[in-house]
Amino acid sequence: MIFTILTLFPGIFESPLNESLIKKAREKGLLEFNIVNIRDFAADTHRTCDDAPFGGGAGMVMKVEPVRYAMTHVRNEIPEERFVLLTPDGKRFDQESAARFARFPHLALLCGRYEGVDERIRALVDEEVSIGDYILSGGETAALVVVDAVSRLVPGVLGNEASPVDESFAQGLLEYPQYTRPRAFMGMEAPEALLSGNHEEIRKWRRKESIKRTILRRPDLMERFQPTREDEIMMREAMEELE
Ligand code: SAH
Repeated sequence: MIFTILTLFPGIFESPLNESLIKKAREKGLLEFNIVNIRDFAADTHRTCDDAPFGGGAGMVMKVEPVRYAMTHVRNEIPEERFVLLTPDGKRFDQESAARFARFPHLALLCGRYEGVDERIRALVDEEVSIGDYILSGGETAALVVVDAVSRLVPGVLGNEASPVDESFAQGLLEYPQYTRPRAFMGMEAPEALLSGNHEEIRKWRRKESIKRTILRRPDLMERFQPTREDEIMMREAMEELE
């Protein structure tokens, strides 16, 4: 999968895209990154990419023309792109969006700066995405969040053992609690069921704990959860155990 990132601050991406999982995936040829400096597409000698807002007010607005030229360049170089603008008023990014993005061969992420982008930039992109209800100083950190969440869903990136299927949100539930050695720590024991070696018992324990945790921490997720018959029984048991 190819990620293109359009930014005024390409340096931000140097280290985050050269460590750990993403670094390994790049070495294996599973992920490719194309960092485009929007400033290279500014037309004037000062390479201006921002200007004062029409109507006055604080701050600067990111100009539309350099972005437009940068996008055209990206389109000509790498086809089949999907252009996404990072913006706090976009559609909320979640695990479902990550799974959807992972199916595009080429995802292009446009990072805003300053007080935001000229409104007409929105007409140039395929969609607008927010990573949460807070204001960042630029779209770069948001783009990194999207890259991280999407790339671990690209087949092969996580390797053979690890699988994203069990993780929180993947099935509409939070993940079950995890334990590793030692068995007892400061009087806190790892659950007996996990030490039983009985795969069916372990599976059931995990499923029920997933349900319990979701009921307690994210009741909003439970409203959309589609339980199997076994889940329904576990939900009743979980409710009783939580009382
Ligand atoms: N004045 C704007 C905020 C601009 S923040 C407003 O009130 O809506 C500057 C840039 O940071 C934005 O153009 C966007 O690219 C990025 N950004 C800030 N918060 C974000 C968020 N929650 N999700 C995604 N991008 C964000």
